Amino acid sequence: MLKPGATIGILGGGQLGRMIALSCAQLGLKTHILCPDEDSPAFQVAAGHICAAYDDEAALAELARMSDVVTYEFENVPLTTAEFLSGRVPVRPGARALAVAQDRLAEKTFIRDLGIETAPFAAVDDLAGLEDAVARIGLPAVLKTRRFGYDGKGQMTIRPGDDLAAAWEAIGAQSAVLEGFVTFRREVSVVAARREDGAFAAYDVTENVHRDHILHTSTVPAALTPDADREARGIACRIAGALEYVGVLAVELFVAERGMNERVIVNEIAPRVHNSGHWTMDGAITSQFEQHVRAIAGWPLGDTARLGRVEMINLIGDDVDNWQRFLADPAAHLHLYGKDEARPGRKMGHVNRLLDRLPSGC
Ligand code: AMP
Repeated sequence: MLKPGATIGILGGGQLGRMIALSCAQLGLKTHILCPDEDSPAFQVAAGHICAAYDDEAALAELARMSDVVTYEFENVPLTTAEFLSGRVPVRPGARALAVAQDRLAEKTFIRDLGIETAPFAAVDDLAGLEDAVARIGLPAVLKTRRFGYDGKGQMTIRPGDDLAAAWEAIGAQSAVLEGFVTFRREVSVVAARREDGAFAAYDVTENVHRDHILHTSTVPAALTPDADREARGIACRIAGALEYVGVLAVELFVAERGMNERVIVNEIAPRVHNSGHWTMDGAITSQFEQHVRAIAGWPLGDTARLGRVEMINLIGDDVDNWQRFLADPAAHLHLYGKDEARPGRKMGHVNRLLDRLPSGC
């Protein structure tokens, strides 16, 4: 168990690393951040940082020396980096969660082997393999690169009549999976935490709306049937247990029809704090960032209870220009990530709105 004053090393210096570091500071812990980008927003709020590549062994050894435990803010940390660090310092969540989450084929196979529903899928390694996969799964379907896909990058929907060779080229002619197209009612996620001793706590299921493949809004509670809600939380618990997971993870799910009822289908796992959990910063007793820190520090998990109905809106690109409007909204908590340049598609901040707060003032 870490003591206040200990140092948490973080791989990655984006907004997630920044918000983990802010929670560390709140709990009297220090942070040391490694990221190759000099302008990393997390550097602004950390006790120390190392600006180096993720495969720079001298830099990793330095991070290990400075840290009592190391965590990460993104799932594409090279496995060799996690393994190098694991020989020197506890890395939480461990390398197994990374290995599963950074390869869509390994991830889908792992989930299916737990008896949890995914979209039908097939491995695709070349154009002939894509033709076979289409014959088996049918169209429409979604072709996704096995690695390095996020926010809709490295994927495309193939519809009847589309040219398969063009689709294969469009994703860069690289190892991929073909997934059956899921006609979903809504997309939801479960953000949850697990400690090393198996203690588990999930937040309320969150409903997510994407725009241009990027998360736009999350609202809680999600409109789910009680059975689907229970199933979604149970799935997160089983996945976390099977990975012997330590920290916060997110499971993204599709909610589809099952006759008069609903069923949930896992889309993907994120072995880290997640954008769809940002509402917890103002809408739950314990934020997902504090919860992650508690879990990796070996501290008791906090209460995940929700404080009301909450809406989280991402500020993407020049949405951030409206910051003064959000300051004037009495229901809104504004979070800005300290990024200089509002490029299109770049996550600049978010707003949490508490929807059923009591009137205040005279
Ligand atoms: P992903 O990168 O896997 O999270 O996919 C990004 C978004 O594409 C998801 O949030 C869905 O809106 C959509 N999508 C991904 N896979 C499928 C699928 N098999 N069927 C329908 N929509 C999908």
